[in-house]
Amino acid sequence: MSHQPPDHEHDHQHGKDPLCLEIFARLSEYLDGELAAEDCAGIEAHIADCPPCVEFVKQLRGSIEASHHFRVPGQPAPVDAELRERLSQAWSEALARKHQDAQQD
Ligand SMILES: [Zn+2]
Repeated sequence: MSHQPPDHEHDHQHGKDPLCLEIFARLSEYLDGELAAEDCAGIEAHIADCPPCVEFVKQLRGSIEASHHFRVPGQPAPVDAELRERLSQAWSEALARKHQDAQQD
């Protein structure tokens, strides 16, 4: 009787790149110019080699510019929490696509 360990469940974890998530956590700071130069360099180095991150930065940049347009002078951005929520979803979808592409190829 051979007993097979459940490898499938382990593979399921590969959809999310921990580095991508770390990049994402700091991306809004990066785009706002709040990160140190060395941190920016690390993020740019990762993004240069990670198509989902490239796409995500484009989306994030567009969203931030849009939110700045609607921001009331003298007040913090009211859409910030909602924006992060949306971006978080977009990020998860981008990573899921990356995972699917890898499987199809
Ligand atoms: Zn990435």
